[in-house]
Amino acid sequence: MPTSPCLFVSDLHLDAALPAAVSQFIAFLQGPARNAAALYIVGDLFESWVGDDDLDFTRERVCVALRELTSAGVPCFVVRGNRDFLLGDAFARRTNIHLLPDPVLVEFGAVKLCLLHGDLLCTDDHNYQSLRTVVRDPQWQKHFLALDLPTRRALAGAARRGSQAHMDRSKYQIMDVNPAAVITTFRATGTKLMVHGHTHRPATHTHMVDGDAAIRIVLGDWYTQGSCLRVEADGRYELMSLPRS
Ligand code: MN
Repeated sequence: MPTSPCLFVSDLHLDAALPAAVSQFIAFLQGPARNAAALYIVGDLFESWVGDDDLDFTRERVCVALRELTSAGVPCFVVRGNRDFLLGDAFARRTNIHLLPDPVLVEFGAVKLCLLHGDLLCTDDHNYQSLRTVVRDPQWQKHFLALDLPTRRALAGAARRGSQAHMDRSKYQIMDVNPAAVITTFRATGTKLMVHGHTHRPATHTHMVDGDAAIRIVLGDWYTQGSCLRVEADGRYELMSLPRS
């Protein structure tokens, strides 16, 4: 009997403002994901998440669907993205999801891959990397999470508008991964396969690392359609677009 594949998705940016994406992802969790050996969500599951108490009807629906998936016996893992880096232990408990470090080594069958959201590879964006260092600091997070929910939501909204203005000003090149950072990450993790999202530029790239070919697969976002990578235990893979009906 063939073993089930592992599935990888990222950059869903789920939010009440995009109900079609929310419905498509919930149908995905209730459909194809049920036959997976595991589901990996590689960051930016939510458009924003300012703490595990930041629930609305949409986020609640998604959490319930995730819980139903894990209850059905499909292990589910989350790498936090730049939009939802505050996903915490209460979220993990209610969905029965495992939160992973970024980057992280994932091994199953003959597969050994390096998994990361991808923002760490965008080292040419110095402003963003400085901001990332600040907001990933446990002390900063402790202070931020101590603020009341409306204040946190207001601050996150302002940060998103600032980030949009920064992206509008920045060159296309700066917002993509830095090739040297990719090579360094391949070397540090000893892998020949890397999977990430963040850039919203779905593709499969080949990099030469110390004379060997290494593959980097970039997942797509879910703004107008779905994107999913399936990886079989024998190493075969397919990066798929999931049309929205
Ligand atoms: Mn991102």
